[in-house]
Amino acid sequence: MSKRRVLYEGKAKTIYEGPEPGTLIQYFKDDATAFNAQKKAVIAGKGVLNNRISAHLMTKLESIGIPTHFMRSLNMREQLVRQVEIIPLEVVIRNIAAGSLSKRLAVKEGTILTQPVLEFYYKKDELGDPMVNEHHIMTFGWADPYELDEMIHMTYRINDYLNGLFAGIGLRLVDFKLEFGRIYGEYGEVYLLLADEISPDNCRLWDAQTGEKLDKDRFREDLGDLVEGYQKIAERLGLVPKGGIIEGGNINEQLAASLGEIENELAEKRKLRGLKMSPGNKPRKV
Ligand code: C5P
Repeated sequence: MSKRRVLYEGKAKTIYEGPEPGTLIQYFKDDATAFNAQKKAVIAGKGVLNNRISAHLMTKLESIGIPTHFMRSLNMREQLVRQVEIIPLEVVIRNIAAGSLSKRLAVKEGTILTQPVLEFYYKKDELGDPMVNEHHIMTFGWADPYELDEMIHMTYRINDYLNGLFAGIGLRLVDFKLEFGRIYGEYGEVYLLLADEISPDNCRLWDAQTGEKLDKDRFREDLGDLVEGYQKIAERLGLVPKGGIIEGGNINEQLAASLGEIENELAEKRKLRGLKMSPGNKPRKV
């Protein structure tokens, strides 16, 4: 396993080449970083929980027709995904004011937004991922108008669905970040897929009763054990047994490995959905 070629070493994940062309393996690390990697820690079990949570949510999204890069879970830390050409944008959608929105616009944290607020950030570590708008995206060619339209449409749909899913288990979905990627069909047609991960590393989730923050803000704001929050989310989603798989900073490897086939029920059934294009628009050349 260690001989596999590393294609990309990220802050929270390592990407290896996959077993077949067009596939990749996403390995979820235990590393936590915040503030553009100025704050760092290794938190035992974080990768296992994020792998499980993300596999579960991607599978749920596939089941309502959102195409994702997720193919199947391989083991407790790894998943097989489709290789996509990543669109260099972070798409953030917010339901409740928090984080950088609260800071930038002096909106009290916890204020319910009268409509979801969608934001784009240009993925560029050296620039600190600056916020950009549709005009920047078009001008610099990061996505074309069809892709932009599709990303916005999918993001609203994902937000509606996940709001309901989390409300049903007593959690408030404050905001989250998505990334998209494209793959090209035989004739050069473009398919847009949800990529990366959806986990408490890139969602804000608060307990609906107590307001307790269960996501990465625990780490960003020193609010206590990060993994305890992630485990509560995984427990409510029914992904780990009560009491969790990590105790006192140690992961129960045997228990984690025994959780078995993870979210693979849809793995064989996926279909690709083409980008909606107006008549006469030619697919881009590969
Ligand atoms: O920091 P900010 O309030 O802009 O974050 C909004 C949402 O996007 C949060 O859920 C955060 O976890 C996520 N995010 C992310 N990766 C980034 C920036 C923000 O996952 N680079």
